[in-house]
Amino acid sequence: MSSDHTPFLLVVSAPSGCGKTTLLKGLFEGVDGLGVSVSHTTRKPRSGEKEGVDYHFVSQPCFTQMQNAKQFVEFACVHDNSYGTSRGSIGKLLDDGLDGVLDIDVQGMEEIKLTGMFDLVSVFIMPPSMEELESRLRKRQTDSDAVIRRRLENAVSEIRKAHLYDYIVVNDNLSAARENLAAIVLAERSRASRTFLSLQHLVPFV
Ligand code: ADP
Ligand code: 5GP
Repeated sequence: MSSDHTPFLLVVSAPSGCGKTTLLKGLFEGVDGLGVSVSHTTRKPRSGEKEGVDYHFVSQPCFTQMQNAKQFVEFACVHDNSYGTSRGSIGKLLDDGLDGVLDIDVQGMEEIKLTGMFDLVSVFIMPPSMEELESRLRKRQTDSDAVIRRRLENAVSEIRKAHLYDYIVVNDNLSAARENLAAIVLAERSRASRTFLSLQHLVPFV
């Protein structure tokens, strides 16, 4: 695909249950030119999840081997499982001229930022309240009470780091949050630093 801007990585993080999956699905439906970076994880697939689409599901020895071979740009332990973004998954998206969407946690965002290797735009999705977050986790019916408690505890420390992101989107009204996220992507594509090179044919003497 040809692109009229230099592709970037959109890093999206949110406390579990906040609505990130729902919002990202909406983003992909509404905005062209995006590709998702498929992470590796040692977590077991949930019902309906597909290998190579939702994640690359691997064993802990396989994950460790990839880690030792420096195949991950970042990796983290989240809720007792290992997750990592491979160089291959990001490289392919950028080579294809797509903006790469990374659905990763706060540790991953901090780690990838520290590498200084990528043009990043980071967005933190915020719940409207902790009560609403709990209610969404319960409605999803994928986790036990103990897991929900753990996710709510983690949410507090994640929310404390939201100021490290370029943008915060509060997911209260779903369609407003969807529009907000799409607007961020479109505005970032229009940054002079990302579009100027592709427009130089207009003024070839510059
Ligand atoms: P995450 O990927 O962040 O863990 P999900 O996208 O799975 O969260 O959403 C968790 C639950 O909250 C789902 O049942 C989803 O339909 C619901 N949800 C998402 N966004 C909203 C919203 N703005 N208002 C009400 N419910 C929402
Ligand atoms: P889940 O198990 O619910 O799919 O994801 C749990 C958490 O792990 C989410 O916050 C998700 O963003 C994060 N995550 C998924 N893939 C990666 C990854 O490659 N790296 C990091 N650091 N976090 C990830």
